[in-house]
Amino acid sequence: MKHLIDFPAVPLAQLPTPLHRLDNLSRELGKNLYIKRDDLTGTALGGNKVRKLEFLLADAQARGADVVLTAGGPQSNHAMLTAASAARLGMDAVLVLKKRGVLAGGNLILDRLFGAEVVLVDADDYADVYAEMDRLMDRLRAQGRTPYAIPVGGSVPLGSLGYVNCALEIANQAQALGVTFDSIVSAVGSGGTYAGLTLGAKLYLPDTRSVGIGVCDDPFEAIALDLMGGAAALLEADVPISPEDVHIHYHIGPGYAQASPEGAAAVRRLARREGILVDPVYTGKALAGLFQLLEEGYFDRDEHILFVHTGGAGALFAVDLPEE
Ligand SMILES: *Cc1c(COP(=O)(O)O)cnc(C)c1O
Repeated sequence: MKHLIDFPAVPLAQLPTPLHRLDNLSRELGKNLYIKRDDLTGTALGGNKVRKLEFLLADAQARGADVVLTAGGPQSNHAMLTAASAARLGMDAVLVLKKRGVLAGGNLILDRLFGAEVVLVDADDYADVYAEMDRLMDRLRAQGRTPYAIPVGGSVPLGSLGYVNCALEIANQAQALGVTFDSIVSAVGSGGTYAGLTLGAKLYLPDTRSVGIGVCDDPFEAIALDLMGGAAALLEADVPISPEDVHIHYHIGPGYAQASPEGAAAVRRLARREGILVDPVYTGKALAGLFQLLEEGYFDRDEHILFVHTGGAGALFAVDLPEE
């Protein structure tokens, strides 16, 4: 098997991110809850995409790229972090975003602050967004530029390696704390984070179940297995990957990128108990999913549960939380 250090990565993240117990919430719920602070990855507002971009933008640099393109919704954290990371590396960024949902404020302010070009595409389907991205790439090539395209969420096997690395970090931190995590819980939006964590858990956390909370209705079991297989192939890791490794639940609410009442309650609860911000689109919903699983008795009584905080605070300034 190859090692993660065999893969070129640009240093964008401050690692390891902190991992600590949520004392107030644990007391309130009578559980052992911990949090992995990937909201503190150290570029812009932090978040999970920074770990993926370390590998993806190293690949872009190796290919001589001078401009990076990516796609997403208008409030995409991934697009914003691509803009911030490209700025740091002296590359241009073009963000091709769906003209749907919240078209002002939040991450759109930051995209422009980081100097990215924002192209809004009036389409419901990502096929149309990617078609526009292809046209823009052709135009850039005709101008003598070298573009590099990153798909939605950076969810390709190479990006998932960032979360294989996160699982390794968690294993080291768990050992230092003297804790064995029975479950790790993360939000699933395009699948790369969950796939990396789940493959990484197989490699480095053999006693840990990786639970994903889907925030839209994509078929995440299949997506995760596919990305896990791709990442394992990159690593030349000889691990059997089976559907039994994948535990996906869903908390979508009224729709992707729209706040749900339970998600909003989770945002407020973490803020008021622990002074930590989660967002209404991903991490608030994942936390609401975790609370629901706790209520349903999904976890054994004394389980040590780690919530992987994947960031997203920018959405708090764009998406309205329903009233209490
Ligand atoms: C993108 C994102 C996720 C989901 O990660 P994927 O790898 O796309 O599944 C979770 N939380 C936040 C804050 C995100 O921006």
